[in-house]
Amino acid sequence: MSDVENNEKKVSASESALQQTVKDVFFKPRVLVVDDEERIQKACQRLLSQEGCDVAVADNGIKGLKMIDDTHFDIVLLDLMMPGMSGMDVLTGIKARHPDTVIIVITGYATLEHSIETMKKGAFDFLSKPFSPQELRLVISKAIEFIRTLQDISSEKSRMRVMVNTLREGVLTTDHQKHIVLANPAFLKMIGSASRSVIGRHVNEIVDDLQILEMIDQAIVQPPDRFSEITDEISVAAKEGTEERIIGVRCIPFRDRLNRNLGAVTVFHDITAVKKMDQLKSDFVSMVAHEIKSPLNSILMQLKVVLDGLAGDLTEKQTQMLSRAADKITSLAELASELLDLSKIESGLINQEREELNLTRLIHDQVQFYRDQADAKSLQLGTKPCPEELFVMGNRNNIDEVLANLISNAIRYTPANGKITVWCDADDDCVNIHVADTGLGIPEEYRDHIFDRFFRVKNEKTRYINGTGLGLAIVKSIVESHHGTIRVESQEGSGSHFTVCLPRSQYKV
Ligand code: ADP
Repeated sequence: MSDVENNEKKVSASESALQQTVKDVFFKPRVLVVDDEERIQKACQRLLSQEGCDVAVADNGIKGLKMIDDTHFDIVLLDLMMPGMSGMDVLTGIKARHPDTVIIVITGYATLEHSIETMKKGAFDFLSKPFSPQELRLVISKAIEFIRTLQDISSEKSRMRVMVNTLREGVLTTDHQKHIVLANPAFLKMIGSASRSVIGRHVNEIVDDLQILEMIDQAIVQPPDRFSEITDEISVAAKEGTEERIIGVRCIPFRDRLNRNLGAVTVFHDITAVKKMDQLKSDFVSMVAHEIKSPLNSILMQLKVVLDGLAGDLTEKQTQMLSRAADKITSLAELASELLDLSKIESGLINQEREELNLTRLIHDQVQFYRDQADAKSLQLGTKPCPEELFVMGNRNNIDEVLANLISNAIRYTPANGKITVWCDADDDCVNIHVADTGLGIPEEYRDHIFDRFFRVKNEKTRYINGTGLGLAIVKSIVESHHGTIRVESQEGSGSHFTVCLPRSQYKV
């Protein structure tokens, strides 16, 4: 121990390192020295107090344990060889009381067996007598770092727990064998379970919705090169006293550092109110559109009668004015029809009958239908042969409408002498419909918006092209109701390529 005393005055780099470590932790480390040698007690107390620790001493094991009963110490420096209660027994006693206390054993004869035995009992490190102040500082620094890491982990865990538990969304986490590792109160409420005893149970015992189970399965087997969220909506049937609810479900795998799937996190969001609002909005729009459509058509018919001269001769000026009025009324009637279509699709009305459709034939028929319009603008409209006939399960009117909208857009937004090509193909996941043109293209800043309702690109080139901004919104709604996706690649001034992807699992090829 003389080393401790002799070297105490030498200020070394590690001295300030321990002081720094002590300053960095938000608590003042409490250290208890249990040693029968007064010199060691005093030297340790003086040195560690100087370094910013709170130090207490006990000259035997029984006293030490008594102090530990009264106060929580972060670190105990424990002599193994003491009269009365042995250091080994004190070590066991401390661990039984406070498993998180870091114990550093001071020993005069650090043999291998001893080390193994104390480590087995939970000692953190050793100091062999005699030890220098430097050695003492180092071991205490290490212990404080260890405590800090443990505290960081536990405060992170506690933060996460509070956050997850206060979320309104239900959260369910399963490991890779689909055992539940976390289920927050919102999730337990959604499934009508009041108990927390779901932890550790297999998800199949707790969740009976096959859609959810399938989403978890898919997330868990997602290959390392893919990291995508699986989303769906499920409806929970009305139970006694509760209404039917619509839940938006999102499921995503979580991984370790080597990108291996450790399990899946599933988030449940009750979207019943949003859906109801949407339904009300759709109903309202469809009611208004329906109500104005018939009067508009009858105004149009009457205008036509007047324009055809059946109500008497018109001057050239009158004809011009009435023609302009008829054009405006036609656009309004079109808008009313498209609004009606959109709200019908969104409320699922158009979407009920699905049949097996020959996609190759549908494309051929639509291309034939639009050929005259394309010819009138000197556009070359054609198809590319499919390697095989492709079939889709879908609603005939809906898929026709998708093709009609994309082809008529291509015709409208492609200047004379351009080219439009329509074709289909299939890959592992999807059956794809392609409509490509050599037209105006879509400026990059608008590409994310063209599928929004009423959005139209407004510039010099599109100024004189009539439209409602609803066509692509209708296409997107139809595609999504068929569980597909739509994307566009485009180069301003060179053309656009729309690709509709319908998931292959639903289709026969
Ligand atoms: P509308 O054509 O009635 O304006 P859409 O919803 O069909 O409405 O299209 C939205 C916008 O996307 C259009 O206004 C147009 O600017 C752009 N767009 C759609 N298709 C094409 C295309 N093939 N080429 C260039 N722009 C297009």
